[in-house]
Parts: sequence; C-alpha cells; structure tokens
Amino acid sequence: MMYYRDQFMPESDVRISPDDRGYYFGDGIYEVFRIYNGQLFEKELHYKRLIRTAEQVRIELPYPIEEINSILEQLVRETNTMLGTLYVQITRGEAPRIHPFPDKSTKPVMMAYCRDADRPLAAMENGITAVTADDIRWLRCDLKTLNLLGNVMLKQSALDKGADEVILHRNGTVTECSASNVMMVKNNKVFTHPADNLILHGVTRAVVLKLAAQTGIEFAERAFQVHDLYNADEVFSTGTTGEVMPIVQVDKRTIGDGVSGPITRKLQMLFTQHIERGSNK
Ligand code: PLP
Repeated sequence: MMYYRDQFMPESDVRISPDDRGYYFGDGIYEVFRIYNGQLFEKELHYKRLIRTAEQVRIELPYPIEEINSILEQLVRETNTMLGTLYVQITRGEAPRIHPFPDKSTKPVMMAYCRDADRPLAAMENGITAVTADDIRWLRCDLKTLNLLGNVMLKQSALDKGADEVILHRNGTVTECSASNVMMVKNNKVFTHPADNLILHGVTRAVVLKLAAQTGIEFAERAFQVHDLYNADEVFSTGTTGEVMPIVQVDKRTIGDGVSGPITRKLQMLFTQHIERGSNK
C-alpha cells in the first residue's frame, strides 16, 4: 500500500505523471523515518527538518503537519510495519516543463510508503570500509531535496573502488558521507562537522550528540581534515538506516585497531537503549 495524491492505494495502481517536477528537475523534498516497534522514530525532528526544507525551497506542504503525521501513522499501521523505514516525498507538483515555479493552482504531490528493514547488526559489529572523495555537491547540502545525483555518483565511485562508503571533503575538510554524517574520535573526544550549509543536519547525528552530552562523552562540532581522519582513534557514521556505524578503514588505511572502538560501542549501546525506550515517550 502507498499514499499518493490524497489517497491510500495499492502500489500497483500508482501512476506518476512525467510532468511531475520531481521527475524533471528533482524539484521536491523528502524524509526517511525509521520505524522501530511499529512507531515512527524521532518524528518531531524529522517533521522539523521537513518543514524547514519546504520553507527554504518554497514548496507549500499539501496538508498541515498534524495531518501529514496522521497519514504517515496510518500507513505504518495499515502496512503493519514493525521494523522498517518510511519514505515520504513532496514534489512541487505537475506542470509543463519550464523552469519557473508553476502557478498557485498547481498542488504539491505527496507520496509515501513503508518498507521492512532490519537493523544492520552485522555491519554495526564488524564495521565498514570507506574511501574519501571530493564533495562535488551544491552548497545547500542542509536541504533534504530530491537532487541527489552528486550523492549517487559519489556512492557509486566508492563501490567501484571496492569500499562500502564514501567520506566527502571540500579541499581536505571532511563534511559527511553520501547518505550519513561522519564523526571521528581522537583522545576520547568526538568531532563532527558543524551543522551548516555543507552537511545534512542528520536526525541520528542530533540524537547521538544528545546522548553523548547526557553521558559525559566529550564532543565538538568542529570541522577536521582528511589527515585527521587517517590518524583518528575511531571513525563512525550516523544515519537513519545505518544507525551508529563503525568505519574501520579509510583509503585502505586501518583506523585505530581496525575494529569498532570503545566510544563507538558505547554510543551504539546508548542508541539501542534510546530505541528501546521509544524516542517519542
Ligand atoms: N547526510 C546525508 C547526505 C543524508 O542523505 C543523510 C540521510 O539520508 C544523513 C546525512 C543522515 O541523516 P539522518 O540521520 O537524519 O538519517
């Protein structure tokens, strides 16, 4: 079952118009929520980011946020998704292909669906490998828009090199990964790029920093360089699907002892406890 254009319907009945501006221009916005125990995880943070992105790109949300929440919760219930993800996107609507925004009569198009997805427990235990690459994306990486060609190209370039993930940098300054944020640990302190226009302000990033603050793990939202990564004690990424993911090799250099480090493990444990408590309680 999917939600498309004001109604729930079987996925096979969905017909998307080639005039949808999402299709032509990537002119739309989206969110990916985690579903744990049949509940949308950290939904307030996701809605806050959706509203902010919508305002910044001047797309009017098709319904008030409370109504969007009711629709998405109904989708989770009716698809009986206990452990998975929910994808929602809102495009600027359907109109003939010209660059200017369409007139006010064009309604934004919302689409949403759920998928089952396990927690990636084996990778969270063993870690993944990464290569670094020039961050070729635009300068509004803080907006969660459908324009992901840079991210897609960069991710594939890492896979082509036999790595699992790509860590991006601008002139040597590390920003984030292709679909997650990146953090490093040096001398028991966690560092991550500040939440400015060069990174997506990850929900998982925010939760991890909150958990660090609550438990006395030192951290700084301060940019660092690729060579700092090579010399880090631990590196990990944070994201909705990957949670807190150890990165044990960067550009074929082993990070720390080549296994998930103690601070990464501690944050994984705190994150798991946070999931078990239920983020919305
Ligand atoms: N950075 C990028 C480029 C992303 O696409 C994502 C998530 O899709 C993230 C970071 C992590 O954000 P979140 O923790 O909200 O999933």
